[in-house]
This record gives sequence, C-alpha cells and structure tokens, in this order.
Amino acid sequence: MIINVLTLFPEMFNNIMGESIIGRAREKGIIEINPINIRDSSKNKHKKVDDYPYGGGSGMVLMNQPIFDSLHSLTKDKDSCRVVYLTPKGKTFNQKIANTFSKEKELVFVCGHYEGIDQRIIDKWVTDEISIGDYVLTGGELPAMVIIDSVCRLIPGVLGKDESFEDESFYNGLLEYPHYTRPATYDGESVPDILLSGNHKLINEWRTRESLKITIERRPDLIVKLFQRDDISMKEKTKLKKLLVEIVSEEI
Ligand code: SAM
Repeated sequence: MIINVLTLFPEMFNNIMGESIIGRAREKGIIEINPINIRDSSKNKHKKVDDYPYGGGSGMVLMNQPIFDSLHSLTKDKDSCRVVYLTPKGKTFNQKIANTFSKEKELVFVCGHYEGIDQRIIDKWVTDEISIGDYVLTGGELPAMVIIDSVCRLIPGVLGKDESFEDESFYNGLLEYPHYTRPATYDGESVPDILLSGNHKLINEWRTRESLKITIERRPDLIVKLFQRDDISMKEKTKLKKLLVEIVSEEI
C-alpha cells in the first residue's frame, strides 16, 4: 500500500513511523509512507501556506494553492484514490473504517493545522472526513498516524506470524479476553487453571466467555450491534444469546 501524507511536519512521520512494526513493514517494502511537505508546493515567495479567514475571526486557514497543487501532482485524477482529511467534524474512526481502508492500494491523508483547510479543497478532493474522537488537537498529524498504524497492521505481512489481529478487541465486534504470561503464580496471584490445562477447546470457550463478560460490563452497545449484524447467522445469535444469559445469571 502507498500512503501519501500532506503535512507541514513531515519529520513527525519519519520519526514515529520509522520504528517498530510499521518501521519494519516500511523497510520490507510492504507499505510505503511518503510524508510530503505542503510548504514545498507553495508558490509564495516566502513559502507562506496560511492566510486570514474570510469573514474575520481568530486563527489562520491553510491556503488552497499548496494543497491543490500537491494533490494534483499526487493523483492522476481526483477520483483515482481515497483522500482522507483529518478533522474533528468528521466521522469517528473505528475498526470497521480501518478494515475498509486496509483494502485500498493507495491512500492520501491531508493534515490540517490552525483553523483547518479551505472548504473548497474538501468539496473538490476529499472522499472521507475522519475524526479520531470528540476533542481538538493542534494538527492532523497525530490523527493521521493513529489511522495509518491501525490500517497498516491489517495488511498481510505487516504483523509477524506470532501476532494476529483476528482475536483483538473490536475485530470480531467484542472486547478481547484477558492475557497472562509466566510465571503461573506471581505476588500470590495465579493464572486461571484452564489456561494451564492444554485443552484448546476449553481454553477457546473460556476466552469467548471472558470476552463476552468484559464487553457486557464495559461496552454493552457492542453486544447490541452484534445482534444487528447480517453476517452472523440466527443459529449463532441463538447460541450467543444462551451464553449471554448464562453469564449474566452467574454474575447476579
Ligand atoms: N477549527 C477546527 C474545528 O473547530 O473543527 C479545529 C482545527 S484543529 C485546531 C487543527 C487541525 O487538527 C484540524 O484541521 C485537523 O486536521 C486536526 N484535528 C484536530 N482535532 C482532530 C480530531 N479530533 N480528529 C482529527 N483531526 C483533528
């Protein structure tokens, strides 16, 4: 996958996205992340990239020209790939969007700054306006990196063979079960016996129950969504319902 990022701070990407799993995937050529400095495209003699907002008010707005020209040089035509603008006004990012983005061959991210970018860029170029939550950050760089990280780890070959995302929180619609590692007893606390049994069928059942338990407790909204899904059969839903009733009765 090729990921182009329009930003005023390309070094932020080279530093953070040069490490660990994403850094290794870049080295192996599985993903290509190109941070592009918006300022380099500015035709202003002082390389200015911002201007005052029409209508007055505080703050500056990122100018059209450098972003328009960067987008023109990156994409053959404006429909050739997804252009994601990071904004608190966008749709809240989640695992489903990460899965959708991970299927793309190429993505472009536009990081805003100051008050954001000129609305005409959004109208003409942007296919997805995405927020990472209901709070305001100083720029789109951290949101872009959050999204890129979560998208890239879904691309085959990015995670090592011992790591997997299928069991993880949100992937199957639930929060994940708890993890334990050696030693079996630490500071007087023991690992649940079942995990030491070697019986994988029982271990999987335990993990499903724990996953359901923590989801009921912390995110009951996810359970409701599970029952609304078309890709889960009635038979599976009935089984799930039975398990949920058992878990809730045990807890009472
Ligand atoms: N004036 C904007 C508003 O009220 O919606 C906020 C601008 S913010 C100070 C500057 C830039 O940071 C935005 O253009 C956007 O790219 C990025 N940003 C800030 N918070 C964000 C969030 N929650 N999700 C995604 N991007 C965000």
